[in-house]
Amino acid sequence: MLALQGDYDAHSRCLKELGAAVRLVRKAEDMEEIAALVLPGGESGTMLGFLQRDNFWEKLRIFAGNKPCFGTCAGAILLAAEVENPVQPCLGTLDIGIRRNAYGRQLQSAIHNADSGVGGAPLELVFIRAPRIIRTGPEVEVLARFDNDPVWVRQGMLMATTFHPELSEDGRVYEEFLRSI
Ligand code: GLN
Repeated sequence: MLALQGDYDAHSRCLKELGAAVRLVRKAEDMEEIAALVLPGGESGTMLGFLQRDNFWEKLRIFAGNKPCFGTCAGAILLAAEVENPVQPCLGTLDIGIRRNAYGRQLQSAIHNADSGVGGAPLELVFIRAPRIIRTGPEVEVLARFDNDPVWVRQGMLMATTFHPELSEDGRVYEEFLRSI
C-alpha cells in the first residue's frame, strides 16, 4: 500500500478484511519485498512531490511495469500514460489518457451505481474530485462505465478506478485485483 498521502488507511482495512497481508510503502526500499502495490486516492500532485525524491519514482516505474498495481483516483493518475489539466509526470505503464478534476461540480463528490464486468449487483461508485479517463489503449479492458466514460479499467496486471472502492461495502473490486497477484 503506497502510504505517502491520501486514503491508504481505508484501502488497507478493505484488503485485510479479504485476508491480504498489507505492508505500508513509504520509501523505495519498502517495495523490495512486496508482491503487488495499491496506489490510493488523494492528491496526485502531492504524491508526485514525495515520489520524485531519492530514486523512488524510477523504482516505482520499474515495479509498475512488472508487478500487479491497482491505482484509484489519484493513483490512477500516477499510473497513466498521459495526464492533463494540468499536464504532469506519470508512470506511463497503464495505457490510458486521463484528465484531472474533469467532472467539475457534477461529480465533485457524488455516489452513483453502474453495472460491471464482474457481474452481480451494480457497483457503488463513490467519486471525489474524480479524474476522467479520456483515452484507453487497445490492450485496456473496461470493467465498468459511468455516463459512457470508463471508470474501472484493467490492462494485464494493472488495474485502475476513478472511483473509491475503499469507501463502499463491496469487496469485488479488491477481489478482482487480489486474483491477479
Ligand atoms: N483530484 C485529485 C488529483 O487530481 C484526485 C482526487 C482523488 O484521488 N479523490 O490528484
